[in-house]
Amino acid sequence: MNESHQVIIIGGGLSGLAAAHFLNKLRPGIDLVLLEGGSRPGGAVRSFNENGFLAEWGPHGFLDNIDESRELLADTGLDREAQRAPLGKFLRYVCHRGRLVALPQNPKQLLTTPLLSPLGKLRLLGDLWIKPIMAEQSLGQWAAHRFGREVLPLVDAAATGTFAGDYQRLSIDAVMPGVRRLEQESGSLLRGLRNKKKAAGAKKPGRMPSMISFPQGMERLTDTLAAGKPLRTGVKALAVSHADGQWRVTTTAGELAAPALIVALPVNAALPLLTPLSPPPVGEVPEAKIANVLLGFSDRVKIPYGFGYLAPERENRFAMGAMFSTHMFPGRAPAGKVLVEALVGGRRHPERLALSDDEILAGTLADLGQLIPLCEPPCFGKVLRPAGGIPQMEVGSHRALTDWRRQCEQSHPGLHLCGFGWDGIGINDMVKAAKRVAAGVAAGHAAPQEEAPVKPVYF
Ligand SMILES: Cc1cc2nc3c(=O)[nH]c(=O)nc-3n(C[C@H](O)[C@H](O)[C@H](O)COP(=O)(O)OP(=O)(O)OC[C@H]3O[C@@H](n4cnc5c(N)ncnc54)[C@H](O)[C@@H]3O)c2cc1C
Repeated sequence: MNESHQVIIIGGGLSGLAAAHFLNKLRPGIDLVLLEGGSRPGGAVRSFNENGFLAEWGPHGFLDNIDESRELLADTGLDREAQRAPLGKFLRYVCHRGRLVALPQNPKQLLTTPLLSPLGKLRLLGDLWIKPIMAEQSLGQWAAHRFGREVLPLVDAAATGTFAGDYQRLSIDAVMPGVRRLEQESGSLLRGLRNKKKAAGAKKPGRMPSMISFPQGMERLTDTLAAGKPLRTGVKALAVSHADGQWRVTTTAGELAAPALIVALPVNAALPLLTPLSPPPVGEVPEAKIANVLLGFSDRVKIPYGFGYLAPERENRFAMGAMFSTHMFPGRAPAGKVLVEALVGGRRHPERLALSDDEILAGTLADLGQLIPLCEPPCFGKVLRPAGGIPQMEVGSHRALTDWRRQCEQSHPGLHLCGFGWDGIGINDMVKAAKRVAAGVAAGHAAPQEEAPVKPVYF
């Protein structure tokens, strides 16, 4: 295979597939090729179906509060198939002193929640007077400085639920860049939010977003995007080089050339390919690996109504939390059964992944049984161990890596980077970045990085 194209995309995960989608939309008929090293498209997006239990190896859903993702759903017709679980309707729980407590969903619930003491609640207002610290900080340092130490278990739960990460290591600038900008501009996050609302003239609070998935699971998204695309599975990019206005990609099946190259890979898969172009500040970023533990019960087991729960580290529990999958998305278990998916491992407990499946199942069941009355044993149990981890955007590496990446794109015309861990880790982040790089290729130059938005819901 020695070929020339207009665009080469490396990576057939959600990022590469979405970039191909937006590029086709902007330049119909463009000659692009999509290289996927594995045997199937989709990357981390992979659904599991056994004995009528439908679960996920990777992402379980995404919030419908980002324009680019809504556009993708509308373009593909998937908006008509999507299952929606509205955040406003479902409770989310946090493990607090050994029991499940509902997270407050509005200011009134915040006033009455037992998750914070009266003094802790008052301390939240300290944000109005406390000056921002400009230096890079961890999510934990930042939250304690602005809102007081009592919020830390809640911040911990949020970082666990999104990154399977450690809130003392994740960088606030990387995880919530829009919030950080607002804090620095207004001197206080609460004041910044109030000013923003005033400027927008918003009278009523905005609608709470919904979590989206599909009746067949999340793989429906990537399968739909892959259909009809010029995708080469089993073709791994081994090296990239640039000369005479052409990008050359050496693959396991020969050489390809194109004036534009999109590297749509997780940070740790992209770095070895990019290093010969410009040495990066770090060799790799830390990743959090997890096991997803599926437990099916008869519906005589009463699972609390809601999305699920998260457990901060100080609760000292085996599982990081669990999703109440059949509440979120009905149809994930046979009739008369319910499905719970618990997460084990993460940035802080990789040692738990060295346990056998039986040990992980037993540990998770014992843990869950202390939080939810399990009146009978499970009728289904399975441990899914995704091969890849979640890249961690941590203090000390993320800022340097972001600067280097920007420089790398600017000094190499035709090179565009997106993917897992560069501009975020969620599906919405991937789709947004994919649209940005597609616009850059269509325009013939790297598209400028947009100002990070302040999202109404992060976790
Ligand atoms: C366990 C887990 C749970 C998650 N849960 C959620 C969630 O609930 N909600 C949410 O929004 N997000 C979640 N995410 C994140 C979400 O899955 C990612 O944002 C998204 O899938 C990343 O897509 P990607 O294409 O950038 O990377 P990937 O999905 O990793 O795809 C990259 C692809 O590139 C291929 N590849 C690698 N190297 C090469 C090479 N040299 N040549 C050719 N091909 C190559 C790989 O085989 C892979 O298919 C989760 C992720 C994980 C791992």
